[in-house]
Amino acid sequence: MKKGKIIVVSAPSGTGKSSIIKRLLEYPELNLGFSISATSRAPRGTEQHGVEYYFITHEEFKRKAQAGDFVEWEEVYPGTCYGTLKSEVERVTDDGRNLIMDIDVKGGLNVKKCFGDRAITIFILPPSKEELEKRLRGRGTDTEEVIRKRLDKADFELSFAPEFDVRVVNDDLEKAVSDVKGIIES
Ligand code: 5GP
Repeated sequence: MKKGKIIVVSAPSGTGKSSIIKRLLEYPELNLGFSISATSRAPRGTEQHGVEYYFITHEEFKRKAQAGDFVEWEEVYPGTCYGTLKSEVERVTDDGRNLIMDIDVKGGLNVKKCFGDRAITIFILPPSKEELEKRLRGRGTDTEEVIRKRLDKADFELSFAPEFDVRVVNDDLEKAVSDVKGIIES
């Protein structure tokens, strides 16, 4: 059976990429499987091992990295690593399903380097910097310091947007979902 394609979705925090991915997974015709990353961070809220992430210890993460078990991995936040396991890519694409990844900007570009034309990289853009700030504040869960850090990081991440295959602005969620769906189908 033909192996599935790899769809990378990256964006600065607060851009709504997780909501877009969640909606896309509801379309059976896209034949998508979510790429469950490994992370050294602790589960949040109702998150479960093997659903949102594979939650592993920092030591286990380093061991796997050294053994070459990852396609890519990054220390996305100081002291917290995230990575895509080779076994995860095989789990989803070996039976012909398309793999959709929610990963950071640098990881997304590394996946493209690794898989070339088998991968499409999609960058989700906020409508503006002001709107991004409004969304991050609107969550009401983060301190001013965390919001500032995310905004500074967003500037850095946005500078990589031209290196992605396509860019989609998330002004309206339904429109963004339909744009990304169209890109995957084509
Ligand atoms: P969170 O802790 O909020 O779930 O995720 C933090 C960030 O890590 C998000 O930007 C997410 O896209 C990124 N991320 C999740 N999994 C991976 C991965 O496997 N590799 C890389 N490079 N980044 C990831």
